[in-house]
Amino acid sequence: MFDSTPVTTMEFAGRQIFVKRDDLLHPEFSGNKARKFAYFLDNDFPSVNKLIGYGSPQANSLFSMSALAKLKGWQLDFYVDHIAEQVKQQSDGNYARALDNGAKVISLAEMDDREGLDSHEYIETKVMPNEASAMFVPEGGRCGYAEYGVAILGKEIALWAEGMNIKGLKVCLPSGTGTTALFLNKYFVELGCDIRVITCAVVGGDEYLREQFLQLCSDAKCHPFIISAGKKYHFGKLYREFYQMWQQVCSQGIEFELLYDPLGFICLERYLAQQVDSPILYLHQGGLLGNVSMLPRYRRRFGEV
Ligand SMILES: *Cc1c(COP(=O)(O)O)cnc(C)c1O
Repeated sequence: MFDSTPVTTMEFAGRQIFVKRDDLLHPEFSGNKARKFAYFLDNDFPSVNKLIGYGSPQANSLFSMSALAKLKGWQLDFYVDHIAEQVKQQSDGNYARALDNGAKVISLAEMDDREGLDSHEYIETKVMPNEASAMFVPEGGRCGYAEYGVAILGKEIALWAEGMNIKGLKVCLPSGTGTTALFLNKYFVELGCDIRVITCAVVGGDEYLREQFLQLCSDAKCHPFIISAGKKYHFGKLYREFYQMWQQVCSQGIEFELLYDPLGFICLERYLAQQVDSPILYLHQGGLLGNVSMLPRYRRRFGEV
């Protein structure tokens, strides 16, 4: 489905690192979600005409699922807890572009039969029993079929490292659900190569991420190394050090995104400070459409670049 994405280099923490440009994977997807959804793109589902998902109305996964649905000719019903007025008014970004793709975004705050259920429970008990031809994809594309596309990414990286004769490569990427990091590391372990994944918990902390890994794979040998952030950050909140890190890494000409990448680079810097000399490949997982709403918030809070 996709061509192999390019690898470039940049200076970081006084050394050169490689950057895998998965942001260039497909113009209609956040790179990360396109990898996870490759299974749906590469296979036919004759009995499906609707995709059902849930998450934040500003999430990359909303936009990416709307792109997937559009490509497949399916309807997308995306359940959210509620939609802030300010999000409704945005003319660009994940929410606006998902609506352009024909997505139906359904707010649980407006449902009479919610009965205190969270989105996942609501879909399983109230929605799916009445949807014979719908496919339910849990938050962020976290589930077994993500392994298919992430393994293709793993293969690209392994072939590249072999071609460059790079030994002991560490692939660094920030985690949300941990699905990408887990399946990528699992691929390298099962291949028997010396490449390993290092990651950090952008959502929910190290313990939550470890639990996610366990749910996806009970064999601890497959689990990526978690770099601790050293301090608690809340997902989606604005931090001055995030903004500074983002400006620093973007100054070399590659635009990164503002939700995951700042902490990814902060943790990578911490990791490299421990006298690590392994070659590093940072995985750019796309998500740049989210900057349309995040950057104005950062500018209002901390000023211009
Ligand atoms: C979804 C996403 C992530 C998190 O991926 P997980 O597989 O859930 O860990 C990271 N970066 C970007 C840009 C994303 O869109």
